Amino acid sequence: MTGTLYLVATPIGNLDDMTFRAVKILREVDVIAAEDTRHTRKLLAHFEIHTPLIRYDEFIDADKILQLLREGKNIACVSDAGIPAISDPGSNLVKAAVAENIAVCPIPGANAALSALICSGLDTTRFTFAGFLPKSAKNRKEILAELANHTETLIFYEAPHRIKNILAELAETFGSRRAVLARELTKIHEEFIRADLTELAEKLAEPRGEFVIVVEGATAPSEIPAENFLDAYKNLVAAGLDKKSAMREIAKKFNLSRREVYNAVVNIE
Ligand code: SAM
Repeated sequence: MTGTLYLVATPIGNLDDMTFRAVKILREVDVIAAEDTRHTRKLLAHFEIHTPLIRYDEFIDADKILQLLREGKNIACVSDAGIPAISDPGSNLVKAAVAENIAVCPIPGANAALSALICSGLDTTRFTFAGFLPKSAKNRKEILAELANHTETLIFYEAPHRIKNILAELAETFGSRRAVLARELTKIHEEFIRADLTELAEKLAEPRGEFVIVVEGATAPSEIPAENFLDAYKNLVAAGLDKKSAMREIAKKFNLSRREVYNAVVNIE
């Protein structure tokens, strides 16, 4: 009999968000595999959990843990905060366990992305979790260009030292949209900054703490009446801009493809 791999959520700030089931499972399993054992040791001490700990992060070979599971040991995987395998170590371990038909069991709980989304006031019926944007400016630009046409709500994780830059890049690529910065969720200084995406960076006085950025999706092209953007187009041309540049400006401003703007312009000319 192989063991079970439990993916156990831990609090993202407020220790009261630890679930009864998480405490029970962490006490019962044979071993806890933790992203940072020093960090997790404090959590375990708080809840009087005395289960042996081993380190598991993206640099550790999943096979060491798989071997314990193959021997019939039950393992709980935890990250530093929130749900393992969501922008955290765990997903490679799960893939390897599933490939060997080892049982995988979720112990749900706190998660920053969903906590931010449900309080955002933006559409929650369809959303894309984009996690951390890539470090390379080129890769980031490509991903943002691709996401710019998504009509569902977008969720990003970001580190404090990059937050202002990333907000500027989001505003530049997506243009004017509703957005929310969820800061220090579940902690004493929890805060939701709601503003137009183009003004969000200015509203953030102190780029300290942990952040989730939630951005309204693109307006579906069919929802924008052509007369709305055609008037704006005519104004730009009347002001002296050449037609091609005016179409480019309008496409960007209204989140439309250049083809859509071109077709509408051709229709009126
Ligand atoms: N696995 C975690 C989860 O389920 O939410 C996410 C871990 S990821 C390494 C850490 C990022 O999550 C942070 O950089 C921040 O974007 C977001 N985050 C985590 N805790 C947060 C909090 N209390 N408030 C706001 N954002 C938080």
